[in-house]
Amino acid sequence: MADRYFSAQPVSADFVVLEDNEARHLVRVMRAEPGDEVIVFDGSGAEFVCEVVELMRNSARLAVRERHEVNRELPVSITAAVSLPKGDRQRWLVEKLTELGIFRLQPLRTERGVAQPSDKVVDRLRRYVIEASKQCGRNKLMEIASATDWSDFAQRTNITQESSVEVNAHPRLLAHPDGADSLCETLTPMGQVPSEIHIAIGPEGGFSALEVDIACKNDWRVVQLGPRILRVETAAVAIASALALAASGD
Ligand code: SAM
Repeated sequence: MADRYFSAQPVSADFVVLEDNEARHLVRVMRAEPGDEVIVFDGSGAEFVCEVVELMRNSARLAVRERHEVNRELPVSITAAVSLPKGDRQRWLVEKLTELGIFRLQPLRTERGVAQPSDKVVDRLRRYVIEASKQCGRNKLMEIASATDWSDFAQRTNITQESSVEVNAHPRLLAHPDGADSLCETLTPMGQVPSEIHIAIGPEGGFSALEVDIACKNDWRVVQLGPRILRVETAAVAIASALALAASGD
């Protein structure tokens, strides 16, 4: 895949200006020259073949030559609600979920959560999404939602009680080592692929009994992923990849 650069501004004109990190990468790391061709994406779903026109110290001007609508998204919108791990493990989690095509990462505040998903952390996670999207070819950015409390999220996503939507049409799965169902049992009866799936992964200390109770009262299915205890990010990536593959039929 050709070198890809992200434009924070929507690409709508004949020229695009890359700035800051993107420009530095093009100019200093890749040592681009006028006339070189690169791919630019802006998160809208399209990618643009661009020619480098002018290089400055901290910015670069590119001429847009072609626009292509290239869809590398999953056919299902998967939201992964995660009580974040700490440090570098956050970066790994975001990279892998982006590569897998997850639609949204929802940082959760939970009773035993260790990492505070502050606005600063959320901004950093958004930068990781851009880096991973450049590498994996996604033209839409995985959304990083603002942090929310587990109880609010568990209730807010429970649209089945207010509408005629069936539980299986909008599965919401909470991963817990003591879950009554295995993930495989949950996947098999899905049959027709749902348009939206929510998954929830707890902190290193696990969801509390009260939090699991909130899940059950709001029609979340509590699923287990096997007899081993997985770290937060491993559990998130394991369940996300199983669902992503099942949904895309790949
Ligand atoms: N002792 C904790 C407990 O009992 O929940 C272990 C927490 S685990 C390190 C972190 C999170 O990963 C859990 O809250 C759960 O969401 C998920 N997880 C880890 N292993 C799992 C498994 N075998 N089955 C289902 N979920 C798992």
